[in-house]
Amino acid sequence: MNSPIPYYLTSVDWPRLIQDYPPPPHYAETSGALSDEAMRQLQEQRLRARIADAARLPFYAERWRAAGVDAADVRGLEDLPHLPTFDSDELRSSQEARPPYGAHQPSPAEWDDVLPLKLQTSGGTTGAPRLTLFDPVALEVQGIQTARGLYAQGARPGDLIQIPFTASLANAGWSAYNAVHHWLGGVPVTTGSGNVTSSEKQLEYARTLGTAGWYANADYLGRLTAVAQDIGFDLHALRTKFLFSFLGADDGTVRRALSDAWNAPVYDNYGSHEVGLIAWECQAGTRHINEDTVIVEILDEDGRPVPDGTYGHAVLTSLHRKIPVYLRYDIRDRLAVLPRARCACGVLSKRLLPMQGRVDQMIKLRGTNIYPSSCHRTVSADPRTNGEYLCVVSHSGAGLARRLEMCVRIERRSTQVDADALRTDMLRRLASDLGAKVDVEIVDPGALRPHTGEGEKIRRVLDLRKAG
Ligand SMILES: [Zn+2]
Repeated sequence: MNSPIPYYLTSVDWPRLIQDYPPPPHYAETSGALSDEAMRQLQEQRLRARIADAARLPFYAERWRAAGVDAADVRGLEDLPHLPTFDSDELRSSQEARPPYGAHQPSPAEWDDVLPLKLQTSGGTTGAPRLTLFDPVALEVQGIQTARGLYAQGARPGDLIQIPFTASLANAGWSAYNAVHHWLGGVPVTTGSGNVTSSEKQLEYARTLGTAGWYANADYLGRLTAVAQDIGFDLHALRTKFLFSFLGADDGTVRRALSDAWNAPVYDNYGSHEVGLIAWECQAGTRHINEDTVIVEILDEDGRPVPDGTYGHAVLTSLHRKIPVYLRYDIRDRLAVLPRARCACGVLSKRLLPMQGRVDQMIKLRGTNIYPSSCHRTVSADPRTNGEYLCVVSHSGAGLARRLEMCVRIERRSTQVDADALRTDMLRRLASDLGAKVDVEIVDPGALRPHTGEGEKIRRVLDLRKAG
């Protein structure tokens, strides 16, 4: 007898999924309206199930044993802080020790009960990419998390949503596609990144099709803005209702610049490859945490919880992911959470404050902590640049005299721009905005492209420390 094929379309109890993780518009009167106590109970019940899943995985069982935690004593929310955290390095070592997927995910010999699966990767910028398996629930809930955000920002059935992310091993493009196609009744315009469809063509599609919304990184929206300016394309003539983006460490400058250029509101969202879309911003400007799918803890450097509204590094627990389980995953992003409150949009949830940066990308320059991404606002605020920059980090001197240096290479808008005058101004403004002295080099338009790339994640740091 042939072994049965696990069809995707019959692998999920769809009405149950919709009830458990309500997509829009039902979210607003279900999960998005639960009382504090009802939400606590829901989280408690989901967390207990995830703890039971984790206890069966060698990855967690070994860590808990080493930390002196008995799985039988771990029952719910109150015990969560007793469990050890782990970070992406540990996922990578787990992959190396038990290739290819690691001890936190089922090996192919154990796949019979969990198929169909999809493989995605993340974190290719430093070290080996992390391989992550997604079961249908993980894929669809990620779509639902994103659809809640898109809907709150104005997406409606029939809207064309342009997605300049390549549906590759990276996750974002798929998550946007699932959100628009499966959970919004929208029409996904899957143009792929600039590598697949050039920026000029992306703009042409938007004009021809009447794109209503974009799902795009702020960096790429900045590049589209610069290209539009260069070719004399009128962004205000487009039918853009909103831009769904990831603004990262922005003090409002990037948002304003994009919003003015596109004549549409720009919304900041926050997500992770492993746990999905953690928070989305509504039209009232609140970043709502998808509390029925994730618990966000904020800890100080010693692993202790910080008070509400205080920044620390975020530790995530996924409530819907079984393949694999993510219990107390230290994502190493600096974030802060505000307590639950009813928003003007009607949703009741915990609220996320803007991301300050990745702990890993922080550079200590003569005693000052700097996030290279903070250069974005200074560079893009000056019309003599085209917004493109690259932070080159290196060591100078040797022995005790060795110092960390950062040089910001900035593209001038055209070769007509006076490079010396621009450099002088940028030196002064970056020193003031970053709080530390950095060097500046002005380069010609397009010169940084070989380093920054054409992908959806534009590289802004060139780290020469390991080479030296
Ligand atoms: Zn709201």
